[in-house]
Amino acid sequence: MAIEKPQWTELFEEVVTGGLCTGCAACVIACPHDVLDYDAADGAYKPFHLDIDGSIDTCTHGAKGCTMCTRACPRFRSWEEEIDEKRFGRPRHVDEVFGQSIEIFLARATDPELAAAGQDGGFVSALLAFALEHDHVDAALVSGLEGDGSSWRTVPTVVTDRAGVLATAGSRYTYSANMLAYGEAVEAGAERLALVGMGCQVSGPGAMQARKAGKVARRLGLTIGLLCSKTFDDAIFEELFEAKYQIRRDEILKMNIKGVFQLWLTDDRYVEVPLKECHAWTREGCTTCPDFAAEHADISTGGIGSFSDWTLTIVRTEAGKDLLDAMREAGQVELRPGDDDPAAISLLRRLAGVSRRRWPAHAVEAPRLLPPPVT
Ligand SMILES: Cc1cc2nc3c(=O)[nH]c(=O)nc-3n(C[C@H](O)[C@H](O)[C@H](O)COP(=O)(O)OP(=O)(O)OC[C@H]3O[C@@H](n4cnc5c(N)ncnc54)[C@H](O)[C@@H]3O)c2cc1C
Ligand code: SF4
Ligand code: SF4
Repeated sequence: MAIEKPQWTELFEEVVTGGLCTGCAACVIACPHDVLDYDAADGAYKPFHLDIDGSIDTCTHGAKGCTMCTRACPRFRSWEEEIDEKRFGRPRHVDEVFGQSIEIFLARATDPELAAAGQDGGFVSALLAFALEHDHVDAALVSGLEGDGSSWRTVPTVVTDRAGVLATAGSRYTYSANMLAYGEAVEAGAERLALVGMGCQVSGPGAMQARKAGKVARRLGLTIGLLCSKTFDDAIFEELFEAKYQIRRDEILKMNIKGVFQLWLTDDRYVEVPLKECHAWTREGCTTCPDFAAEHADISTGGIGSFSDWTLTIVRTEAGKDLLDAMREAGQVELRPGDDDPAAISLLRRLAGVSRRRWPAHAVEAPRLLPPPVT
């Protein structure tokens, strides 16, 4: 009997056009023949196959046995179980609704500049600066902004030092496929990479490791997750913020989402946009996503909870724990137990459950599984 070798044709049919693709770009960076590219224009955020080699849904290398894109894809077939098993050495229990974890903290950067630049407690930035300065990684793949930042157009970016980390701190709520910065990092000689991203992105390295996708998998050794319910199409700036609220991109200084879309403006104004007005700009790739809590990262981080200047921090792996311990010893992070904010933990569980319900019935069952309701 022939051994099945799923390749681009299957990925295209089951994931890209099958309603599961998040646009994470893992398949693009894993392709050893450079025949996949990425369309970030007009809200597409999808990979596509170059017609120099095959067609939109066929690949000559795939026909000859190359399976790298399906090995890299964190939405292909039984991805969740495979990655759980590889990353944590066991399947998840059904009550581990926000994924497997070791410990939960509230964390804050002790460096005042990093704390001020960060979205919540600046913990992610402090971690990246520490990991780069103490030789844990050579580079990190993060989200920068085009030009001077005033357009708020995201650009996947490589940072290698504290200045780069500071320049790319904070949250953007449009998509940034940070893995697309991989090629630039490797060309510059980086071998040990940290990846920052939402759940869709930080499951990529786990998928690659579980399915033995070679060098790319080995290089992406540290993953820092961002909790996430959705991202918006970049068109939201003109079509909602400007059309309805007369707010131009270059007038926005900072944004956050805490029950409403919060905008701080250059003229000291603060504007709240109700989230229900934003829903029409939800990115298509987010509508079926079951992963709120970046469940396969080494450490996942979020801003939910009662303390706005702390980062809710879920430590999931031993590698994540060792790094956090080293930061604590070096005095780079202030920590409080997660139990200091029980409302945050219960919201985490609730929002993780909401996302899991989005996973479509036509796909494999695991990402939909939820504990029975408490009576
Ligand atoms: C799109 C999005 C949605 C989010 N939704 C939630 C949510 O619903 N609930 C919640 O609790 N937390 C959410 N977060 C996480 C939260 O906003 C913070 O990123 C997190 O708490 C870490 O804060 P920090 O101060 O430690 O991070 P910082 O020190 O500010 O570091 C943030 C890092 O995230 C990177 N980044 C910024 N924007 C993006 C992007 N669009 N794509 C990829 N990388 C990016 C930056 O480059 C930087 O490396 C979301 C984040 C994003 C980007
Ligand atoms: S989910 Fe990611 S890896 Fe899978 S097809 Fe879409 S872009 Fe490629
Ligand atoms: S909801 Fe967030 S984690 Fe899920 S696909 Fe969208 S951006 Fe990715």
